[in-house]
Amino acid sequence: MKKDKLIIVGSVGIDTIETPSERHESILGGSASYACAAASFFTDVGMVGVVGTDFPEAYRDVYRHFKIDVEGLQTAEGETFRWSGVYEDNMDHRRTLSTDLNIFASFAPELPASYQQSPYLFLANISPDLQLYVLDQMEELDFVVADTMDLWIDTARETLKQVIGRVDMLTLNESEAKHLTEKNSLIQAGQELLNQGPQYILIKKGEHGSLLLSQEGIFLIPAYPIEVVQDPTGAGDSYAGGLMGMIASEGNDHQTAIRRAILYGSVVASFGVEQFSLDALQQITLEDIQDRAKHFWRMIEIDD
Ligand code: AMP
Repeated sequence: MKKDKLIIVGSVGIDTIETPSERHESILGGSASYACAAASFFTDVGMVGVVGTDFPEAYRDVYRHFKIDVEGLQTAEGETFRWSGVYEDNMDHRRTLSTDLNIFASFAPELPASYQQSPYLFLANISPDLQLYVLDQMEELDFVVADTMDLWIDTARETLKQVIGRVDMLTLNESEAKHLTEKNSLIQAGQELLNQGPQYILIKKGEHGSLLLSQEGIFLIPAYPIEVVQDPTGAGDSYAGGLMGMIASEGNDHQTAIRRAILYGSVVASFGVEQFSLDALQQITLEDIQDRAKHFWRMIEIDD
């Protein structure tokens, strides 16, 4: 493993989540938290984000557990970003109940000098303005992935397009891909996004797997089947974090490496949804991920 450092910028939040059976208040969340934890199994990770002075020390301990470099995590006077959401009966529909930007509203991510020469960058879900601000500070990028969400498609479409034009891979879910391109066919949506610059478009379909589109064609992967999904929050972030962690450790110079990274990303995400917050990820090791990846592979391969 070559272990190049991976830089991840995104939200750090305190979430309140309701599912049909449970309610968890003020738990650690945010796109950067999930993505950094997931990537940390494979490579060194530097986090870029902001928290308020109310951010609990116990949550910093979680970052220590994953050995995440938090030099790029600013602490600002005020309250941490807070988000709450509720999952409907079948867990595949989520409603946002509240979003309190708090210190996020005035956040300008300044990258420590030690981050700026990293070859790998994941722009997790955060406003496209901030994604561009971070991109501009990086010096020698090899592979950049960006994630986004409906909110930015609605409120910052033009800036988002600039981000898309500067990344190697865009990840988004099925409805976001359709919304962004105004196409009903995922193939047409993917093709239109490929034409905007990225080499790869990764379209996620939740428990139904995902679709990687590139000029070389389409790669399909199911989601690893989980018997009881406790909390799907952050699944997309752990997927992309795991994927980027693998790319930072194994390279991105051929399709096989990208496909392997996708398989590992979906395996890490499958662990994440088994419990709330980062609880499940805190209980596993790289070996557990590798074992599940082998098991997953056996589920989808066909012997000659
Ligand atoms: P996901 O399930 O992939 O949508 O990610 C959920 C995480 O995103 C939660 O932990 C939230 O704290 C965070 N989040 C929710 N809304 C936003 C937003 N507008 N910007 C950045 N992060 C957000």
